[in-house]
Amino acid sequence: MNRRFLLAGFCVWMVLGCGSRQQSALPPAPVPQEPERVRLVAVGDILMHFDVKRVAQRTGSFEPLWSDVEPLFQRADIVFGNLETPVAPLTGKRGVPYIFNAPIELPGDLKRSGFTILSTANNHAYDQGTQGQLETQTHLESDGLAFIGSGKDKASAMTPRILESHGIRIAFLAWTDLFNIDFNREGKSPWVNHLVEEEACVAVRAARQQADAVIVSIHWGVEDHHVPTDRQREVAAKLFEAGADLILGHHPHVLQPLETQEQNGRKVAVAYSLGNFISNQNRTYASERMSLVQGDERDGAAVVATFVRKAPDRVELEKIGYVPLWTENNWWQMKTGGASQREIQVVRLDEADHQGEPYALRRTRIHEMMAPGEEIEPRVN
Ligand SMILES: [Zn+2]
Repeated sequence: MNRRFLLAGFCVWMVLGCGSRQQSALPPAPVPQEPERVRLVAVGDILMHFDVKRVAQRTGSFEPLWSDVEPLFQRADIVFGNLETPVAPLTGKRGVPYIFNAPIELPGDLKRSGFTILSTANNHAYDQGTQGQLETQTHLESDGLAFIGSGKDKASAMTPRILESHGIRIAFLAWTDLFNIDFNREGKSPWVNHLVEEEACVAVRAARQQADAVIVSIHWGVEDHHVPTDRQREVAAKLFEAGADLILGHHPHVLQPLETQEQNGRKVAVAYSLGNFISNQNRTYASERMSLVQGDERDGAAVVATFVRKAPDRVELEKIGYVPLWTENNWWQMKTGGASQREIQVVRLDEADHQGEPYALRRTRIHEMMAPGEEIEPRVN
């Protein structure tokens, strides 16, 4: 042991003692540089049910509805969500059940929370018609939010949106596999990308040439199903082959697995369904009187992914995990006199405030959907 200390002391003496004499002769030692990294956080459906809007109206902003998650967004370089509603007050049509519309304040509140990019390709994209889709695009643009999956014409909808952060360029593209109403007519009129596999693969291949990494958002799958369909798996495999690094899926309103795979020596991942981010679904659920399964639409996941530059011409998906989310909704407490006003709030289940029952059961349930068969991962910060 003494010998080791002596040796260490000798090395320190060598470094300190000789350094001053050689300083003028040698160039300064290069400071080891951290590789460039980009941190992305992605959540699922942003659903504007009446009660979600009412709570925001009462509090004066949408931000309090997800303030528990906001620090996670603020620490990320890029924050993605699926905007499952037009923002089109000018159409004059108020949302009716299953036909959505959002107030003009929503994009600004999302932006202030940390969101940077939203997908507009989903089955509700044309809920307020072609004009409503155009109006939505205008509001997103004026509030400084990037959007993918729609455009003033087909060419702009199919153009990848490239976000650059820490010197890393990430291309984003989006498609929907289903529409409630489809107003796509000609390529020159407003357009929402409807998934045609070959077209999508061509676009992903082209995006790969323009960026370091490619992220694809897809609205697909079957509502309330926890297992991806064969089609979801086939489409994912084709997009990976075409050059996608990460696929962010949504629409089923419940969670589906987050899987990593290897594609030609690079790590790729697909979150088949991120679940709802904010909604009024399963509002009647109360853990004390219903089975866990009946609350599944109130589960969510914030996928956290890091991309790293490995070489001047090579950026890779480095790490991917998720933070379990849960939508608090006091409909039952209101009904039974235990609360005086309606509250809807998305909370992080990995935080100290949400460790006891029934949160622990919910967290386990979420893990069964997101990472079946795996041990629960340590907390993602
Ligand atoms: Zn949908």
